Amino acid sequence: MSTDAGRSLETEGLTKSFGGVRAVDGASVSFHHGKVNALIGPNGSGKTTFFNCVTGMIRPDSGTASYRGRDITRKPPHWIARAGIGRSFQLCRIFPRMTVLENMLVSVRPRTLLARIVSARQRADMERARELLTRVGIDHLENTEARDLSYGQQKLLELAGVLMAGPETIMLDEPAGGVNPALIERIGSLVRSLNAEGKTFLIVEHNMDMVMSLSDHVVVFDRGRPIAEGTPDEVRADPRVLEAYLGI
Ligand code: ADP
Ligand code: MG
Repeated sequence: MSTDAGRSLETEGLTKSFGGVRAVDGASVSFHHGKVNALIGPNGSGKTTFFNCVTGMIRPDSGTASYRGRDITRKPPHWIARAGIGRSFQLCRIFPRMTVLENMLVSVRPRTLLARIVSARQRADMERARELLTRVGIDHLENTEARDLSYGQQKLLELAGVLMAGPETIMLDEPAGGVNPALIERIGSLVRSLNAEGKTFLIVEHNMDMVMSLSDHVVVFDRGRPIAEGTPDEVRADPRVLEAYLGI
């Protein structure tokens, strides 16, 4: 076992400004491997920008990021995906005019050119796509165009698409945002069961019931950097959090 056991995504002094706005401001954060980690904080506190910086969607101005002890700073998104990190987006990323099943198949990494291998792989991908659609509970919709799904179903499709690549760590940006309570419940139990199978989660979420009931470790952001971290109970009782985040 390497000494990196327990280490997941870690950043040191990560910074990203947009014009005069320091969206992420010297953030040093560590998340735990094998756990459900939550990143919470007021709107505009830099959570999505933080996600974008560590997944290669945007380049940080300074600071470093590592995953499982390996430097990932400024690596491109496909490189970071290959390192084992999959992510969803705050506003769902799906192809609205493709069917549910087609959306699953386009999310798979590029294939080899060898025709025989391609067809074998395609069969395997198809099977895996259907298995995952069943797991998230939308297999009956495989031939429906994605735009005809409810918003919650689109989020489930996006999650299933993220799972297609077999990531060991899954970053979700507001998975419950705009989703009805029944599907929030389903997303929560999927996170629980996937975590029990060994997947690490990093979740940005505003729904406090979901955060508090799902997470092992919570990091609280304010103005682009962490102001507190700990178990849900520790964070809930922290005066800095009550003041900055809950407004009391
Ligand atoms: P959160 O996800 O916590 O709500 P964001 O990371 O979306 O926060 O935003 C943090 C700050 O950075 C906000 O002030 C926001 O307006 C600003 N910001 C985010 N993305 C951009 C961008 N592409 N261009 C300019 N400003 C941005
Ligand atoms: Mg956001």
